[in-house]
Amino acid sequence: MAPNSEKKRLTSLYDLLRTILTCEGCGKKVVTMKTSTKRRCAASVVVAVTFSGFFQPVAAFEGSIKKHKSCETLLKKFPNGVAESKAAANKVARDGFVKPKVSKLLYRQSSKLLDRNNNGVMCVSTRMARSFAPGISSTELLGWVDAAVEQMAKPPLDFMGMIWPVGTPLDDQPDPQVFDGAPFSEHTDVLSPNEIKKAVSYFRKWQLGLQNCTKAETKGFRDGVAVVKRWIEGAADVATAPDPCFNSRSGVMAWTAAQDKTTAKETFFHESYHGLSNYLLNRCAPIIGREEDSLNNLRWFGEGTAEYFGLYMAAKDDDRDDYTQKILKRAFLDLQGDPRISLDANAYVQAAAMVLMIQRGLITESKILDGSYFHSCNWIKTFDPSQAEMIYIFENFKKIEYSGGRYFYSESAVSG
Ligand SMILES: [Zn+2]
Repeated sequence: MAPNSEKKRLTSLYDLLRTILTCEGCGKKVVTMKTSTKRRCAASVVVAVTFSGFFQPVAAFEGSIKKHKSCETLLKKFPNGVAESKAAANKVARDGFVKPKVSKLLYRQSSKLLDRNNNGVMCVSTRMARSFAPGISSTELLGWVDAAVEQMAKPPLDFMGMIWPVGTPLDDQPDPQVFDGAPFSEHTDVLSPNEIKKAVSYFRKWQLGLQNCTKAETKGFRDGVAVVKRWIEGAADVATAPDPCFNSRSGVMAWTAAQDKTTAKETFFHESYHGLSNYLLNRCAPIIGREEDSLNNLRWFGEGTAEYFGLYMAAKDDDRDDYTQKILKRAFLDLQGDPRISLDANAYVQAAAMVLMIQRGLITESKILDGSYFHSCNWIKTFDPSQAEMIYIFENFKKIEYSGGRYFYSESAVSG
């Protein structure tokens, strides 16, 4: 071939390749799209498969199929990981992970470094979920995990959600002696002994499979499993956010017989928010050189934001927009029951305080919802109850009114 036509041919092949690379980003949907660009995109994929041997070296010039050296960079582009084949993707999906993107081309570029257990999938350990409770499927729970993680501006690399059912309390006293000092109550069993084993084993295996924790962090893994085991075996009414390491966290809960599904969903999102918040008191205490217990007067803000997120996300999932009304109504009724209640008392009034703070312009809803107040430990100073604006909130969070079928903060509370 003459040099000129060879150059011309290569130019068009680069053009074609660029189209193919665009397709790598837009996935399967392109095949069904009707615009001429999209059709060309789909057609090019076929060419790429046929001539993959020819195209691969050229691909190295393109940013989209660059070689990724860490899961951190790969996950930014492909948040569910990348599988070599449909079969490999389906296998990990059956194990409770989000189905990864299937691309042989992408996989081959980086798999030597990133497919650490050689299962045909790179960086799969991102999000997973398992429900042992009838009434919530693992797929539905994974949808909640996805929704929560996608809401965050800086989520951790890995996030897991787990729910199991428990019955009714054995008595009306908490049983801290059974649960390492935690004030949970023993409940009747719903799971069989075999299902209890499976639930404990699921948590253990998840933790063991984590690939993004440091060696120092993995030291506490055995103790962590032992604690979770006691919760599940003792049918504790636990809802919490175990974080084996900074990159890998979770939200787990026992769904009690007393909770309806909406409440369980709100609780799960509440706990997930704790799990997704990067710098809570446990991480900030050593950074600022304080004992965690000496920071207990800051808990209202972590709880208020988590509860706000829980009600917002559950409403969003149900396609409702009544979350602010629900937050204010619960606090209003709670305050009618005990007008002397303080802002440290419970998450109902703490979530209502978030509404008042948003309306006074002290915080924004979007920053609550994307977790950005917890991107550093600065929030500890900003929301210290001794700050003037916080003193105002502690004094005025009760000023909720009810009129015309709506709950709202009084004008004097909002602009006073
Ligand atoms: Zn909480």
